[in-house]
Amino acid sequence: MAKLDSKVPKGPIADKWTTYKDKIDLVNPANKRNIDVIVVGTGLAGGSAAATLAELGYNVKAFAYQDSPRRAHSIAAQGGINAAKNYMGDGDSNYRLFYDTVKGGDYRSREANVYRLSEVSGNIIDQCVAQGVPFARDYGGLLDNRSFGGVLVSRTFYAKGQTGQQLLLGAYSAMNRQIARGKIEMYNRHEMLDVVKVDGKARGIIARNLITGEIERHSAHAVVIATGGYGNVYFLSTNAMGSNATAAWKIHKKGAYFANPCYTQIHPTCIPRSGDYQSKLTLMSESLRNDGRIWVPKHLEDAKAIQEGKLKPTQIAEENRDYYLERRYPAFGNLVPRDVASRAAKERCDAGYGVNKTGEAVYLDFAAAFERYGTQQAKIKGIHNPSKEEIIKLGQAIIEEKYGNLFQMYEKIIAENPYETPMMIYPATHYTMGGVWVDYNLMTTVPGLYCIGEANFSDHGANRLGASALMQGLADGYFVLPYTIGDYLSDDIRTGKIPTDTPEFDEVEKEVKDRLDFFINNKGTHSVDYFHKKLGKVMWDKVGMARNEKHLKEAIDEIKEIREDFWKNVKVPGGQNEFNQELEKAGRVADFLELGELFALDALDRNESCGGHFREESVEQDGPQKGEALRNDKDYAYVSAWEYKGEPSDAVLHKEELEFKDIELKTRSYK
Ligand SMILES: Cc1cc2nc3c(=O)[nH]c(=O)nc-3n(C[C@H](O)[C@H](O)[C@H](O)COP(=O)(O)OP(=O)(O)OC[C@H]3O[C@@H](n4cnc5c(N)ncnc54)[C@H](O)[C@@H]3O)c2cc1C
Repeated sequence: MAKLDSKVPKGPIADKWTTYKDKIDLVNPANKRNIDVIVVGTGLAGGSAAATLAELGYNVKAFAYQDSPRRAHSIAAQGGINAAKNYMGDGDSNYRLFYDTVKGGDYRSREANVYRLSEVSGNIIDQCVAQGVPFARDYGGLLDNRSFGGVLVSRTFYAKGQTGQQLLLGAYSAMNRQIARGKIEMYNRHEMLDVVKVDGKARGIIARNLITGEIERHSAHAVVIATGGYGNVYFLSTNAMGSNATAAWKIHKKGAYFANPCYTQIHPTCIPRSGDYQSKLTLMSESLRNDGRIWVPKHLEDAKAIQEGKLKPTQIAEENRDYYLERRYPAFGNLVPRDVASRAAKERCDAGYGVNKTGEAVYLDFAAAFERYGTQQAKIKGIHNPSKEEIIKLGQAIIEEKYGNLFQMYEKIIAENPYETPMMIYPATHYTMGGVWVDYNLMTTVPGLYCIGEANFSDHGANRLGASALMQGLADGYFVLPYTIGDYLSDDIRTGKIPTDTPEFDEVEKEVKDRLDFFINNKGTHSVDYFHKKLGKVMWDKVGMARNEKHLKEAIDEIKEIREDFWKNVKVPGGQNEFNQELEKAGRVADFLELGELFALDALDRNESCGGHFREESVEQDGPQKGEALRNDKDYAYVSAWEYKGEPSDAVLHKEELEFKDIELKTRSYK
């Protein structure tokens, strides 16, 4: 059994990363030319890593299942990216970002990694500005910041509601420069279906050309997995339809431990589900909570009238509204972290106060912001005694400037004008904090196999703060991996090319081909989506926002049953040697069906509430925190790292005990 060693360097936290970089082995520029690195995934994490490694001189082979790196799911990121620049002069610092992230993650992340993340956060902004990323600027031309949940400063850099897209274009241009020079070989429309190990080290992958169906062997001295999160295990989520866990799960089966699978983020501000035939959910960025106020009717009869379409929100007087986040959490109000806001919305809706037909929606209302900004604008423009209509119009123009594209998106989906009536929102699966276990070097438990971005379990603990995923993905890709992988590769300067005509490649290729053959030949009775939806329903109902022992045990059994049924009855039309999206989906859903079970098992093991993982058995019974999640540091201050042993239920749990030397463990209160 491999020992779980986080490899955190010794010394004071603020010096660890600098001392580490000073002492690691380097590969000289001439030798880098003889070393190949495979990067699977070219979203923000993989794209930034591929560009940087190629810039350093390594030969990079990059893979993505889309037709271009520009289409990675990272493009969907709306709200922004955090960095401790303290441009607003509101008291921010590396330490404060570190503190907020550890606290936000409910004290379930590794201190040293989070400190490093905070330390390099400022570099990310400089790098992206140098690439031409058009971050929002204030009237004086300086970079603007806004605030996100769970913090008391404004440290979020943004490009309207399209931050991910703009950052991805930056990373993509950096990649393109290297593609043009031949330092990156870009394999679009290729899906990694397994990893190949030689003498215990990751030395290559088996990939399928998604256009022709051809199975290819690719070798390298190290393999980097940057394939994003597994939120689509719930079927419905805000993730891209193609987001999947296959690469992460396949490496898990080949020896990489999988950490904290139960830590999922359910985002509070998504467009509510409209019916059974929906295949995707849409996020309304958290940035909207800077200006929108969340409420439900104070009286059940009003809520009921709204649900029946007999009353409009605008007809409910101010005193009859319950701004429940402001009421329950006066210090943070509408900007409490996502897990807290999601649970509070569920609590109100479960009590019958929901505001749409299904009773699963709350309001996000901008009326107060229209008035506040409008009044300011009237003053700035020297308009004396403006009418209420004039004020609202002026205020709406400011909101449009800040969030116009989000308002437009909402109107397109719901067919209601959010400038005239409050938006309706409800929590939905959004992000996975769990993922492949990595040490301080971002290496998995398989030597030479790295994992970065959302695909790994670092650095958000049990709950990620808004705008921190982009920060982590880019920190990993631009500023951390390029150092740590060099230290490993310095032992490979004499290895030479890794051949692919070896028994190790033969064996894995055969496994991959056999599985594809099975899907095509099974000729079952139900589509892949049929099983995916069933899995998603179990996950949402029993492993969703609130979890308990009974439901988790049922979920484990039910997922097993769905999996057995899937392998007997799945139907995949079409052939193998052609573009076949049903075949792609079949492989991905097969992996979700295993991951889902481990997810529930992990949730069952963790009999405490922390971050996004809320166990109904673990709730504060008294005092000011009554009714809130109850963490148990005595028994659960560890990272769960699961080792694959055949069936998900046979997985062996390894614990990485978490040490908190620089932050005191406290009750996480946002009151
Ligand atoms: C709607 C939405 C809005 C968000 N907004 C924000 C925000 O404002 N701020 C923030 O910090 N975070 C935000 N997030 C989270 C953030 O966008 C993601 O966590 C982040 O972009 C993930 O980046 P990544 O590079 O790890 O993975 P991805 O961007 O998901 O990229 C995955 C890559 O892997 C490739 N891939 C996957 N599997 C395979 C395979 N088997 N073979 C080959 N290639 C493969 C894909 O082709 C793709 O290139 C948001 C998330 C959502 C869903």
